[in-house]
Amino acid sequence: MSDSPNTRYEPGAVETARQAAWRAKDAFKTPPLAEEQAHIYIKPSAPFTSGNIHMGHVRSYSIGDAYARFRRARGDAVLFAFGFDAFGLPAELGAIAGGEPPSEWVARCAAHMTAQLRRLGFSFDWERSFMSSDPMMYRWSQWLFLVLLDAGLIYRGTSNVDWCDNCQTTLASMQVEPGGTCWRCHGPVRLIQLPQWYLRISEYVPENDRRVEDLAASGIWDDVALASQEIVLGRVDGIELDMRAPDGSTLSVFTPHADAIDDARFVLMSARHPDVDEWTADEAVHEQLEHVRSGGWERSSREAETIPVIATGLVLRTPDGTELPVLVSPLVDARFGPTVVFGIPSRDRTDEVIARRLGYELPDTAGDGDGAGEPSDNGSHASTAHAAASSDGAAAMIPGARPAVRYRAFDFTISRQRSWGTPIPIVYCDECGTVPVPREQLPVLLPLDIRPTGTGNPLAELEEFVQTTCPSCGGPARRETDTLDCHFDALWLWVPACVPANAREQRLEEIFALADLRHWLPSERLVAGSDSGNFVFDQRIITKALRDIGPLAFLTEGEPFAGCLFHEMVTAEGRKMSKHLGNVVDPDELVARYGADTVRLAVLYAASPQKSLNWNDSAVLRCHRFLGQVWEYSHAKLAQSQRERERAAVGAALAAEAGEEVRDTSEHLRLKLAQWCEAGVGRITQDMEGLEMHSAVRNVMRLFDRIKDFEKRVAARDGELAGASLDALLEALTVLAQTLGPFAPHLAEELWLAFGNDEHGAQTPWPGVSFQVPA
Ligand SMILES: [Zn+2]
Ligand SMILES: [Zn+2]
Repeated sequence: MSDSPNTRYEPGAVETARQAAWRAKDAFKTPPLAEEQAHIYIKPSAPFTSGNIHMGHVRSYSIGDAYARFRRARGDAVLFAFGFDAFGLPAELGAIAGGEPPSEWVARCAAHMTAQLRRLGFSFDWERSFMSSDPMMYRWSQWLFLVLLDAGLIYRGTSNVDWCDNCQTTLASMQVEPGGTCWRCHGPVRLIQLPQWYLRISEYVPENDRRVEDLAASGIWDDVALASQEIVLGRVDGIELDMRAPDGSTLSVFTPHADAIDDARFVLMSARHPDVDEWTADEAVHEQLEHVRSGGWERSSREAETIPVIATGLVLRTPDGTELPVLVSPLVDARFGPTVVFGIPSRDRTDEVIARRLGYELPDTAGDGDGAGEPSDNGSHASTAHAAASSDGAAAMIPGARPAVRYRAFDFTISRQRSWGTPIPIVYCDECGTVPVPREQLPVLLPLDIRPTGTGNPLAELEEFVQTTCPSCGGPARRETDTLDCHFDALWLWVPACVPANAREQRLEEIFALADLRHWLPSERLVAGSDSGNFVFDQRIITKALRDIGPLAFLTEGEPFAGCLFHEMVTAEGRKMSKHLGNVVDPDELVARYGADTVRLAVLYAASPQKSLNWNDSAVLRCHRFLGQVWEYSHAKLAQSQRERERAAVGAALAAEAGEEVRDTSEHLRLKLAQWCEAGVGRITQDMEGLEMHSAVRNVMRLFDRIKDFEKRVAARDGELAGASLDALLEALTVLAQTLGPFAPHLAEELWLAFGNDEHGAQTPWPGVSFQVPA
């Protein structure tokens, strides 16, 4: 065997060489638009600038990158780039801990994470990647805010926020300690009411619901992603009835239990219902409502024992004349959204608790034979498909009733009293009131020298930021000092990768007119963690809004993602990795020891995306051994072939003189090898099309076993692998290298070149499924 240095697998050297070559030829630059090519935009998740790439990122990007490389290998134009989600609380807290401005903190974190991602060899188009905290990017948020405000999809309301008197600041829920104290000073936290900006998603919730069926029919939304959209919707089917009060006013009341409406004992109204003030006009009642409002809205139905319930003193009459008291409580929202529902203690556990608390007489449900069984904990989980099927019939039986649907998904606040976020483009003028900043004046710049300490709102204390002139009258005005929640930035984070870098500074109206967006959108596949359901839901809402407003009119279905893959997280010893538990696996250490190809192959090999990946070293050891064997075996066979050629050059003349012929009885085995390759590539291709990387990797490993098996069988017949059989083996090994391209791209490309092939654009080409059998 040759002792050339190539024959030992040294991932560090292989990966350094390949990455340098990729960089030199700008291999992953997004190709220019071409009419005849399929345009595939694969959207990876946007990482927070947390400071480090963790194993969850490695998993997510290994899946997305394998798919991107597979599509490139098949000749598709691929866009694979991302943005850092760089605003928000984690960065602000990191900066406070480090005693530096958040802008410096995120720049440092992003640089480090980028270096880690590059070392892993992910094929991102770095030229198109971006930071959401860059003014050229956060103007997208400001522009979107103004567009949605114009369309009536952003409005001003009030909401409760946690407030610390010592620190003079609002707190995010993660900053409130379990005992209800402040994370910083450990002082008491109280809820205060503040004016807030809201995003009106309710307008588009029903369309998001209707579309779920089409997404499922597409076949490229996986079950976890689809289920997440249903969960966020929180759809409940039932009936709705207009009820009359003795004074003549009416109220539409909903229930998912149409067949049990006779058991209704009260009517429960959300404290967020638009008519709630009308129904709580009595001063004493209104005072109670204010008290409830300062107690926070979002509570689970489990707290039914203690959560406030207000008796308004008013009643509604059922068609048969029964009077039902009207109660107000936030208990409605977690089940049905901000609506009014019948309280039916025989069917709903929460209603039963309320009835007992208020001392209502409960109907004797024992032996009524309706088979309803135990009251359900939560109306929204009562089989909605079943309820939908039966509600038409039930509605027909109850005079005045009509089928109806309620959703838990509802408008939410988008403003935060924090300094590390997109400034809201609004000024307040004594003469003109609330004035939007004109679009051509964007971006409203966030001062970079703010240094949050955890007290106050540094932005509100910065007079040079706050003092401005009114865009309307030119008089003195004050800027809005709330910033946008980074969830709002996420609404558009999937768009800018479609914009060529040289067009990035254009006005947004021009950007939305670019042909690029029409080619790349909708994204063919989003690959993200299974906790991304809320983001995706709201991104789907905003796409529909921008379709109707105009900028995304070409997305007629209002969907940003044609397909979606949600993967589970990476755990260790069955638990979430955390510094606290001391079970964090450091990808850098693994890469330094085994190489990027091994680490990437191992995360794909160890579990299918739908399962959480419980990390242990056996997968990485198995994959490292496999790649080492592929490498060494391939080089050994190459060297053998080389020697044979050298011998042949000298020996052919002698053999011809002596009239000898080399014995070859293995043609049928070569045919078999070709069939194995064909079947293997077929299976792997199918796996890749379905993003079943887990299965694909196993099929690649099986193919290698087949190839080695071929050599054994030939050797058993003919004594030694030679001539046409050796050529066939090398061809099969080339195919193996090609199928490894998406998973272990460095090794695969290096082998591809070693087999005498030329560099091939961004990616070793995907093998076809029919092979020539060497004669
Ligand atoms: Zn405090
Ligand atoms: Zn003014």
